[in-house]
Amino acid sequence: MGELSAFLKIHRVKAPYRDPEERKHDYEEILGVLPEPVLAEQGARCMDCGVPFCHNGCPLGNLIPDWNDLVYRGLWRDAITALHATNNFPELTGRICPAPCESACVLDINDDPVTIKSIEHAIAERAFSEGWVVASPPAPETRTGRSVAVIGAGPAGMAAAAELNKLGHRVVVFERDEGVGGLMRFGVPDAKLDKEIIDRRVRILEAEGVEFRLGVDVGIDLGTEMLRREHDAVVIAIGAREGRDVEMPGRECSGVHMAMDYLYQRNRAVARMKGRPAAPEPPAGELISAAGKRVVVIGGGDTGMDCMSNAIREGALGVEMLDVYPELNPLTGRDARHPWPLAPKRTLSTYALEEGGERRWATQVTELVGGPAGHVRAVRGREVTGTSSADIEAVPGSTFEQPADLVLLAIGFSGVERAGLLAALPLELDRRGNIAAGSTYRTSQDGVYVAGDARIGATLIVHAIAEGRRCARVIDRALSPDARRAPQPMAAVGADGPEAGELGGSSDAAAR
Ligand SMILES: Cc1cc2nc3c(=O)[nH]c(=O)nc-3n(C[C@H](O)[C@H](O)[C@H](O)COP(=O)(O)OP(=O)(O)OC[C@H]3O[C@@H](n4cnc5c(N)ncnc54)[C@H](O)[C@@H]3O)c2cc1C
Ligand code: SF4
Repeated sequence: MGELSAFLKIHRVKAPYRDPEERKHDYEEILGVLPEPVLAEQGARCMDCGVPFCHNGCPLGNLIPDWNDLVYRGLWRDAITALHATNNFPELTGRICPAPCESACVLDINDDPVTIKSIEHAIAERAFSEGWVVASPPAPETRTGRSVAVIGAGPAGMAAAAELNKLGHRVVVFERDEGVGGLMRFGVPDAKLDKEIIDRRVRILEAEGVEFRLGVDVGIDLGTEMLRREHDAVVIAIGAREGRDVEMPGRECSGVHMAMDYLYQRNRAVARMKGRPAAPEPPAGELISAAGKRVVVIGGGDTGMDCMSNAIREGALGVEMLDVYPELNPLTGRDARHPWPLAPKRTLSTYALEEGGERRWATQVTELVGGPAGHVRAVRGREVTGTSSADIEAVPGSTFEQPADLVLLAIGFSGVERAGLLAALPLELDRRGNIAAGSTYRTSQDGVYVAGDARIGATLIVHAIAEGRRCARVIDRALSPDARRAPQPMAAVGADGPEAGELGGSSDAAAR
């Protein structure tokens, strides 16, 4: 373990974020890496508890006390080995995971938790800069001759592909967008995750043998029957992309958009700015811009925060987020329903507020008001009480009208997209609109599996990676009936993955 009783004398050091006044003028990452001596001290704070609740808090079951200790002792190369044992992409989680592990750290009961995420981020970056993260393709003689198609190149699809390839299967990933990463590329802004970080990992996966076919919308550009004929198994990792819309007077006004439409455009615009190839311009007349506008974001989760940060960088006149729920404990994000070691249900992310955005709690929008040309000019709403959709009540006499030239709807997702792939390959859905698969990752069609948001609903990248890894093991066992490998232990959260309502952290779905 780290240093005996270090937690009594060493205090938590916060992750280093760039000055909001400086960073809001650019599209570079806002999170930095702490110096190594500081990280060693932070690693020393880990108490190596008899029951390390952080293991269970991390959906990947990351071996947190082990690598905290390795960093404390300066054994960085061993630390990346320990980290890679359970996490295919620590450079991604180290940047944008909301760290449910830290909410489960025993120190969080009456002190500040160990700065686990900062340590993870630093291990991954040190490993890349030292050249320790290199392609490690399976030996040719371990190739199984079996082939798996993965539909969707988000974190779930990437993790499933990485694991299946490691196990010797041929893997082809089909992705309809022009780049790999799913919502990490087209939802999350570069300020949180520079897309070169994804590309750097993709180059390694390719060198290991994973084949990515971009710009292929399966079900539209490519028939599912052919896919099933040519591969021994199919993994559906298409995310839960059906955006929740509002039903209220004025919804038809121009200037009212789904948040993801705006974020796709902004991420592509930043990609073009940074000289990345193949990021298409929006079709004529469909540009969504916040520049010089009064922006209202409806919805208080990660998606809304990312809309806000983009709008600020575009030069919006002002950006306000309207959140229907009340403020929770501002230090912990917890309420009485989510005590330690549970992860808080609501986002703690405030980075765009520090850059100049504003948030109004406990306000419900009831109407969008159009101007003479049918363009939105204001939102009308009221203050409310209540902590869930079932108990929201209006505060009498609290109605307000707020000017707005651009309204972005960021109120979460309601399951998988029903058009396209699912029209071509009908699969049973569960009551939440996700692809039904129970705990087996098997869908209602033989040989077709599902992982990630598509199975469990909109959540976090750490859950998506864990899903991809577990799904890969299920498929491997199905493709290798001779059980040529000893069964491997499942990740700490169990084979079932998280159940509805158990997903900690900052996803918009969890926030609602
Ligand atoms: C704006 C925003 C910000 C977020 N920020 C964070 C954050 O900071 N931290 C965090 O942990 N989580 C965050 N999340 C959640 C996280 O990004 C998702 O939970 C995660 O990406 C889900 O992974 P996935 O692989 O299941 O699906 P996705 O990432 O949605 O990937 C699905 C992929 O499938 C592709 N696809 C769909 N249909 C087809 C088809 N028919 N043919 C081919 N390809 C197809 C899509 O193009 C996409 O690339 C955020 C989400 C959003 C929307
Ligand atoms: S992946 Fe997330 S939950 Fe797991 S150790 Fe890293 S920061 Fe914590």
